[in-house]
Amino acid sequence: MDGTNSTTSGDFIRDIVRQDLAKNKNNGRVQTRFPPEPNGYLHIGHARAIWIDFGIAAEFGGKCNLRFDDTNPVKEEQEYIDAIIRDIRWLGFDWEDRLYYASSYFEQMYQFALQLIEAGKAYVDDLTAEQIREYRGTLTQPGKPSPYRDRPVAENLDLFKRMRAGEFPDGLRVLRAKIDMASPNINLRDPVMYRILHASHPHTGDAWCIYPMYDWAHGLEDSIEGVTHSLCTLEFEDHRPLYDWFLDALGVYHPQQIEFARLNFTYTVMSKRFFRRMIEEGIVRGYDDPRLPTLSGVRRRGYPPEALLNVCKIMGVAKTNSTADFAMLEHCVREELNKHSPRVMGVMRPLRLIIDNYPEDQVEEFDAQNNPEDPTSGTRKVPFSRVLYIEQDDFREVPPPKYFRLAPGREIRIKYAYLITCTGVTKDQQTGEVTEVHCTYDPATRGGDAPDHRKVKSTIHWVSAAHSLQAEVRLYDNLFTKENPNDVAEGADFLSNINRNSLEVLTSCRIEPFLAGAAPGSRYQFERIGYFCVDPDTTAKKLVFNRTVSLRDDWAKIQKQQE
Ligand code: ATP
Ligand code: MG
Repeated sequence: MDGTNSTTSGDFIRDIVRQDLAKNKNNGRVQTRFPPEPNGYLHIGHARAIWIDFGIAAEFGGKCNLRFDDTNPVKEEQEYIDAIIRDIRWLGFDWEDRLYYASSYFEQMYQFALQLIEAGKAYVDDLTAEQIREYRGTLTQPGKPSPYRDRPVAENLDLFKRMRAGEFPDGLRVLRAKIDMASPNINLRDPVMYRILHASHPHTGDAWCIYPMYDWAHGLEDSIEGVTHSLCTLEFEDHRPLYDWFLDALGVYHPQQIEFARLNFTYTVMSKRFFRRMIEEGIVRGYDDPRLPTLSGVRRRGYPPEALLNVCKIMGVAKTNSTADFAMLEHCVREELNKHSPRVMGVMRPLRLIIDNYPEDQVEEFDAQNNPEDPTSGTRKVPFSRVLYIEQDDFREVPPPKYFRLAPGREIRIKYAYLITCTGVTKDQQTGEVTEVHCTYDPATRGGDAPDHRKVKSTIHWVSAAHSLQAEVRLYDNLFTKENPNDVAEGADFLSNINRNSLEVLTSCRIEPFLAGAAPGSRYQFERIGYFCVDPDTTAKKLVFNRTVSLRDDWAKIQKQQE
């Protein structure tokens, strides 16, 4: 499947927007927003929400705001705000001058709260958090009213103002909406609107010691910004009646909320809480560890943003939750990289190969194609000399059946250069391990083809020992051993499914000199091996690469079989 051919025209959200436009609802305005809470890094699931929010606005001539839902100062940090901005930009979306913060609306929200108190629709409760939980009831049992539920309006106003003024310690009182303690929807059982929290906020500093709860704040933020289509994930469906209640009780502008399914993938977890655990436990190095499905992680790993957007297109906008095959994501990454990555030669596990009949101090240069998929990509020179490195895997002293690569007595091609024949090996006296392979070359096969057109069964990659650069290569595997990491034995958690071998570091790789000075973030295909991206750990002395994906495309294979 080619993601770029997929259409985005037919999902249910776009249908609603189209109908609204036809009716001239909101005077033909389309206003969306992406509302991350800055309490962690974005992940590849968020890419779906970003693609929907920004994509739909763009498609219908509307606008999308970036709004930080920064209502909980305890968990929010500037570091996260900066990372989120970087990640959305990387995906290619732009909010122009519409970068907003929920915290900018704190005063307005406070005034709205006073309005509800005055209307007898909110009250200050002195129950403890635990009592509130007990009184709330369960899915099968109705809740019971707090003894403070019928406080007079004047008392509520007085207490709430004193809450704001900082007269009370954390947790002593809360402001609650007065809705229905017997509602079958637990969200409507007098939800807490404000709590007391003497904490500094990244944006408002110490201006506030009461903070709005998410459910109270979220709908108001959308209303204040004039959001027409408030697009969010399915778990907020049950909260919609509450947002509606607040907006109706206040009589303010009412956005339309539409829910869609979260995007999930096999063999990984996508929750900020899980990322935090893995970092704290030292399982990964940080939020941008290339094994994490964070946008920062996959960027460092070398995923092009176009690949993520293609996945979004292929998956479309769903109304039921499902888990996408991680192999499908990797397939999209390969498709994108195949089009745009220069090909180079790099040897992961080097084995010395000596061409005994090649002059000691001779050096030749061969022309190598940069990218056969891209006719404009040109060629480069690859130096060749008497001593090469090849992959250990490309030689067998005793070749098993169907092994067609180099073995004693066998002739093969070394790409772009010559046909060579293996004449023998040198071994370590003690271990018996092959340390060098000896060959002869046929000077008549310059460029890799024989004048008599004789065939060889394999072509391998190589680098010239004297000209190659040393590099470190980090190979990654799935972070989890199970397709569903949350499938755990009783009492265990997702960490019990961690793949302890998800990182393998190769420190003595040899790569062609063309890569000297390659910039962090640049991507290459190492021929026959996979796609690699230069890691920011690279220094003037040491090149470091991340393997983005191997060349083997399991997903494409499965698709073919199914056809
Ligand atoms: P997490 O559960 O990973 O902590 P979150 O939902 O708390 O994520 P928010 O910052 O609230 O993170 O998310 C911002 C927006 O992204 C929300 O509108 C949310 O619905 C959406 N979103 C979060 N996760 C996904 C996902 N896996 N697929 C699609 N959209 C998502
Ligand atoms: Mg959330």
